[in-house]
Amino acid sequence: MVCLCFLVDQKTFMRRSKPVAGMCSRCRHGARVAEMQTLTRFCYIPFYWKSWKAIVCTFCGSILKSYR
Ligand SMILES: [Zn+2]
Repeated sequence: MVCLCFLVDQKTFMRRSKPVAGMCSRCRHGARVAEMQTLTRFCYIPFYWKSWKAIVCTFCGSILKSYR
């Protein structure tokens, strides 16, 4: 099972984002609504991906709210 952990990995990308009303609770910068994409790879070959939306802070990178 340990071996499997090295073969399977997940990457999250931000595809695009636009400003939204709201403020980051951590750094007080403006929040953005972003289209996220999570890619699951097995032996570096993508086999599963999903898109989801989230309210994120692009300054500190924290996810304030997600709509998975
Ligand atoms: Zn922030």
